[in-house]
Amino acid sequence: MSKPRVAILGLGIMGGGMAGRLLSAGFPLSVYNRNREKTAKFAEAGAFVAASPREAAARAEIVISMVADDNASRSMWLGEESALAGAARGSLLLESSTLSVDWVRELAVAATEKQCEFLDAPVTGTKPHAASGELFFMVGGSAAGFARAREVLSVLGREVLHVGPHGSGALIKLINNFACGVQAASFAEAMALVNGSGLDREKCVAVLANSALASPLIKRMLASMASGDFSPNFPLKLMTKDIGYAINEGVKCGVPLQTAAPALEVFKHAVDQGLGDLDFSAVVKSVRKN
Ligand code: NAP
Repeated sequence: MSKPRVAILGLGIMGGGMAGRLLSAGFPLSVYNRNREKTAKFAEAGAFVAASPREAAARAEIVISMVADDNASRSMWLGEESALAGAARGSLLLESSTLSVDWVRELAVAATEKQCEFLDAPVTGTKPHAASGELFFMVGGSAAGFARAREVLSVLGREVLHVGPHGSGALIKLINNFACGVQAASFAEAMALVNGSGLDREKCVAVLANSALASPLIKRMLASMASGDFSPNFPLKLMTKDIGYAINEGVKCGVPLQTAAPALEVFKHAVDQGLGDLDFSAVVKSVRKN
């Protein structure tokens, strides 16, 4: 059977990796990105470069959006030149960006009104996982939509999990990133304390790297610190966005996230210091002794 035609909206770190993966797997692909410069290498690899999300969606049976935040996602899906305006009835529409649950549910309603199938399908994993098809998709929506999405998602991910109705994928993703953000902020403070304490830094790092603290996330931060390479796999400004969205979800669910608020301040401070476009691990650079 021939492969379904796919559109990717957003060719950043994650969307770019996903688009490359789909092209390698032989899916007919249309791409759209606000900044057109990023489309060149995908055109060379055989993708059709659309002038708008509308044009990209009109050429596809499956549309996947992977952009920064709610505002970016709205600009992909709503309006005259948007993907919803171009999508044919019966198309499968996936939103894989990390977004607020309210927006994702609003989008699900708008897609249903267009008689399209919608799934929120955010991911864990980062730049290398997107490029190698090793993401973990957490999917919200109908079982039928999930079944339809499996073929394409299994090319992009090592794990594809249906977690519940619309909004479920978005919510578990925010819960995950809230806990990651708090851990990263507390580790930045731990390192600031090491640096300000007069202890031997190298020995302290050896202790921390070999203790229960050394989660995969902390190991990534330690690796960035060791190499001095803070080029973004996961931009710091996006972690800041996720903690903010998670705080709102906590309020809505009646579970105030008390550790999230100070973590958000740590990340906002890092953004204010101009670190937002670096990897989230650069938060260690922002916490210093007074
Ligand atoms: P990124 O490299 O910064 O790319 C962001 C993408 O969004 C670009 O295509 C950018 O277009 C587009 N965009 C931003 N603002 C826009 C706007 N106002 N209108 C239209 N397009 C806009 O980010 P990323 O790392 O790929 O992340 C994409 C999504 O995946 C985010 O929701 C992020 O939280 C989530 N995520 C990221 C990771 C990770 O490790 N990187 C992991 C899991 C989930 P331009 O090129 O024109 O700026």
